Amino acid sequence: MRGMMMERPLRIADILSFAAEVHAESRVVSARVEGDVHTQTYAETARRVAQLANALTRMGVAPGERVATLAWNGHRHLELYYAVPGIGAVCHTINPRLATEELLYIVHHAGDRVLFADITFAPALAQLRERLPKGLPIVMMTDRAHMPEGDWLCFEELIAGEADHLDWPELPEETASGLCYTSGTTGHPKGALYSHRSTVLHALMSVAALPGTFQAHHAILPAVPLFHVNAWGTPYSAPLTGSSLVLPGPRLDGKSLFELLDREAVYSAWGVPTVWLALLGEIDARGRTPQGLCELLIGGSAAPRAMIDRFEDKGITVTHAWGMTEMSPLGTQNTTPPRLADAPAEAVRALKESQGRRLFGLDFKIVDDDGRRQPHDGRAVGELYVRGNTVISGYFENAEATAAAIDGEGWFGTGDVARIGPDGMLTITDRAKDLIKSGGEWISSLELENAALLCEGVAQCAVVAIAHEKWGERPLLVVVPAEGAAPQKAQILAALGEHFARWQLPDDVVFVEALPLTATGKISKRTLRGQFAGHTASAPER
Ligand code: AMP
Repeated sequence: MRGMMMERPLRIADILSFAAEVHAESRVVSARVEGDVHTQTYAETARRVAQLANALTRMGVAPGERVATLAWNGHRHLELYYAVPGIGAVCHTINPRLATEELLYIVHHAGDRVLFADITFAPALAQLRERLPKGLPIVMMTDRAHMPEGDWLCFEELIAGEADHLDWPELPEETASGLCYTSGTTGHPKGALYSHRSTVLHALMSVAALPGTFQAHHAILPAVPLFHVNAWGTPYSAPLTGSSLVLPGPRLDGKSLFELLDREAVYSAWGVPTVWLALLGEIDARGRTPQGLCELLIGGSAAPRAMIDRFEDKGITVTHAWGMTEMSPLGTQNTTPPRLADAPAEAVRALKESQGRRLFGLDFKIVDDDGRRQPHDGRAVGELYVRGNTVISGYFENAEATAAAIDGEGWFGTGDVARIGPDGMLTITDRAKDLIKSGGEWISSLELENAALLCEGVAQCAVVAIAHEKWGERPLLVVVPAEGAAPQKAQILAALGEHFARWQLPDDVVFVEALPLTATGKISKRTLRGQFAGHTASAPER
């Protein structure tokens, strides 16, 4: 028998309409590329979003068409996040840090109909123009006074004469709403195509998982870009609860972030570890933390224990989280369970190294090389597969990648290797492709890195596999020394030797000034593997 309840489609537009009425005074603060800090309320945002949606319709953007963005975190980008899906089109966020060829591939593969760009990108776009689709309109996200030279449309002029109200069209909730490409290690980038339904559910799941964070009187700063999986969903989850959004624009250096966090008394800031390393430096230099900052949500790569300790020692709670583009992206969050409320700090922090427990609505399984399920006993390790309403069912127009990613039971293979505890605690031990297979045994690069980061004088590090005649692969530790420090190989290996068997220890430690980063700000192990491909050193005897 069917239940007798109404079925209203889940629509993205309803999130902002709700915020505009119920949390009208909550704010969107933007450190803009123009150099100023701009503030508007959710009510004002909703009016500008209606104007933008009307402008898009006037330009002829039809339902289903892709509207691309090449932009930092700012209010105009946020407005596109609502206006584009609001009229049934698809907001395609492009990562500007991608290599030119990848970027061009993405624009052509997505079939973008219009491109909205921050003025910072005008010179690069002018150079690329010939290779972009013919006649692609490009809108500069600024006002007339700041327009760069060239043949561009102006955002503020585009929306100026438009009505600031719109009765949003009734769309089936499965309608595509957003498109985000993720670059793998091989082949072309692959597109995750989100829907209104998956996006609204992801927002509801996020706020349910992080109730302490999402409060109407809190401000949240996504340092993670709007072009990196929707700034982890914050453009939708924050308005849902009335939390204000503080958008940092292009400047993610420690000083700029500190000043913005301080000025806006941000409660919770979200981003990858590399960004927080820069903030730590600034906090040390000033001898204080930004006022009001209580929580850092760290994800995208493993939050190292050393980083957790340094922030928590300063009274800032670290919430570790894990997810991926294909999951909208949040998969887990590691807020401290109530049973540990009075536990010693050491026990609490040790637990924070794990990636946390799943959000409601997601299912996890770990499997061995033959696809056999492994127990959730906190010991068995396997490749992690996920299932749920916020997980992709396939890649956009890419049957081959889809077939490789979805297993016979319809689960999505994350490519991460993990353990799951009886209480659902997920610990990622490595990316499958980053594991080091030495003499038939696996060595976790992540565990070695976490331990190395606790050694004195180590600021950043990465462990990658180097080829070895006898053992197949061996670990190599690449270290960026802390400023003014000169850590020694022997001292690091001795410290690691306290936690690892001899055969698990790196064959060599090399010191570099900086580590290469990917387009999403993570350490690029692919680049490192290439860089040290011919490196040789002697493996310790087993
Ligand atoms: P992306 O789609 O760019 O967000 O990358 C997703 C991948 O980043 C995951 O599959 C993991 O390999 C990695 N990742 C994300 N968060 C974490 C985390 N907290 N710890 C370890 N790896 C992570």
